[in-house]
Amino acid sequence: MIRRTLIAGNWKMNGLSASAVEVNAIADGAPNGVDLLICPPATLIASLANRGVPIGGQNCHSEVKGAYTGDVSADQLADVGAVAVIVGHSERRQEYEVTDAIVCSKVPAAWGAGLTAIICVGETKEQRDHGAALDVVGAQLAGSIPDGATAANSVIAYEPVWAIGTGLVPSINDITEMHAHIRAQLAGRFAEAKGMRILYGGSLKPDNAAEILAIENVDGGLIGGASLKAEDFLAIARAA
Ligand code: PEP
Repeated sequence: MIRRTLIAGNWKMNGLSASAVEVNAIADGAPNGVDLLICPPATLIASLANRGVPIGGQNCHSEVKGAYTGDVSADQLADVGAVAVIVGHSERRQEYEVTDAIVCSKVPAAWGAGLTAIICVGETKEQRDHGAALDVVGAQLAGSIPDGATAANSVIAYEPVWAIGTGLVPSINDITEMHAHIRAQLAGRFAEAKGMRILYGGSLKPDNAAEILAIENVDGGLIGGASLKAEDFLAIARAA
């Protein structure tokens, strides 16, 4: 089954109105044959949608609306032009104590709003050093993905916590092993497992992108720091 490469940028809490120039440049330089996505802060979604680059959110609540001060619902993201939303990013899991069960409750909200859920998993350094990475990620997948996931409504992002924003990346062998493990686990649960995209994330840069994106079962990347500049983001997209 053909899986189109997806290069997704996570701007985190970076970007102001002036950042529209980066999205315009990405639209102008977008290579053929690769799907792009930029996930800016929620404040920028409305102004960045409809510029030629699909736009996503970085988080959503599990409820459609209600008394949840400071939160944003999947319907609200979709309403201003988002087509996808990241759920369970490790920064949310760590800083806001978002558990697998909470991630799992957000995903149907994303689907209900017509958004693709980008479901993040990944082990800590300590877990990897103890040889527990495969088990940890397996448990996160089991707990974070609800029944009903399809190739169209879900993307998995494997992001080792220790590789995010650190300049460290796992070995090619470790990425290969983990992505095969994720594919096998998806295959045990979902009819469309072969079509579901599995992204790698964690210090993906223009200079390591070609090697990492060529690994079997790596169907694209989720990129933090290197997504903030159109030039770097496009270099990664071209490397795919
Ligand atoms: C991320 O936050 O999803 C990420 C992969 O960050 P970075 O590329 O900066 O490591």
